Amino acid sequence: MIFASRWLLPIDRPPLERGWIETDGGTIVRLGSGPPPGPATDLGNAALLPGLVNAHTHLELSWLRGRVPPAGSFIEWLRTLLAVRGRGALPALPEQLQAMRAGIEEARATGTVLVGDISNTLVTPALLASAGMSAVVFHELLGFNVVDATTVVAEARSRLRRVLADARAHAADGVGLRGRVVAHAPYSVAPDLFRRIARLSDDDAPLSVHVGESVEELELLRVGTGPMRALLEDLGVWTDRWQPPGTGPVAWLDTLGYLQPGTLAVHAVHLDESDIDRLVERDAVVVICARSNVWVGTGLPRVSHLYAAGARIAIGTDSLASVGSLNMFDELTELRRVAPDVTAASLLESATRTGAEALGAGDRYGTLAPGKAAALVAVDVPAGVRDVEEYLVGGVPPEAIRPVPT
Ligand SMILES: [Zn+2]
Repeated sequence: MIFASRWLLPIDRPPLERGWIETDGGTIVRLGSGPPPGPATDLGNAALLPGLVNAHTHLELSWLRGRVPPAGSFIEWLRTLLAVRGRGALPALPEQLQAMRAGIEEARATGTVLVGDISNTLVTPALLASAGMSAVVFHELLGFNVVDATTVVAEARSRLRRVLADARAHAADGVGLRGRVVAHAPYSVAPDLFRRIARLSDDDAPLSVHVGESVEELELLRVGTGPMRALLEDLGVWTDRWQPPGTGPVAWLDTLGYLQPGTLAVHAVHLDESDIDRLVERDAVVVICARSNVWVGTGLPRVSHLYAAGARIAIGTDSLASVGSLNMFDELTELRRVAPDVTAASLLESATRTGAEALGAGDRYGTLAPGKAAALVAVDVPAGVRDVEEYLVGGVPPEAIRPVPT
């Protein structure tokens, strides 16, 4: 099949005007500009680009869409989330599953082709498989007062392997599902649990962790007090075995061996210069979820500074408990708003190539290149637009986004 469109965005080079791309059996064969080499489907005045990569979401929380309002502080949001989940008003499983399916469908319909999905319960791999959405499933552990980390991690790992094998058996050709056991956050995971998870080295997916999300997390790590400690006590998980490291979260993760090449450092809102330098030195990937940060009241990461510092940056929506949609173009719009000096090309690269590489799928996704998956998205562009990259990060209406069936 050959598709022609006004603009073609390979991502690894500047946009091609009047571009075309040839695919065969779901794989890109060749691409170029000018007259197509054969009969082509004309997508019209559209931009054709590789499908987007949502590097951080929690699909299993999709039933919380609209149920946890924006908050003035992270602790306020977190306490509301826990209350909503614990109120006994939990919807029945079929309703939860339906919300997850709708979340996956929303992501797909708005051009996402690969997700980094955080899963505590492991109900999502089967849904991802049946929806044909490729994913890295991060089986996330919490455990502030865990005693036997070795057993906890071993059990989680065999659970993940079993669930992924089962999901893969039901997945269509070309749908990739990989996974890894990961830790939730410095304020919810015991040091020993971090160390155990970090030591598992033969998994084919990166580590991931929420880091530097809130000032409450920083206070806990520095001095062991504050609203986060109060929450841990209220939850009955506080233990005096846990001693504050007296450092920032990035240094703490580094001490624990968790900051490895490719580790996804999600949020990175409250980081100082040395934290950011260390992330760059360790070749970690920062995953920015800017709309979620605003929703939960943490403030925004220093997006422009992170780009200027040379950090590898991917983008995630986070869950529908803290964001209004799973549409990655909405995320790009927010990043354009908060980081007007970052080029549109850089933002688009984060949403495609860097995300794909971060999830270990750079060989199939993230750019338009021969041999990669023909996972394409077309976006209708108004006739007068000259700078197509800027247009794509400036607020694309959802109805203009069309996944291209190949
Ligand atoms: Zn998250």
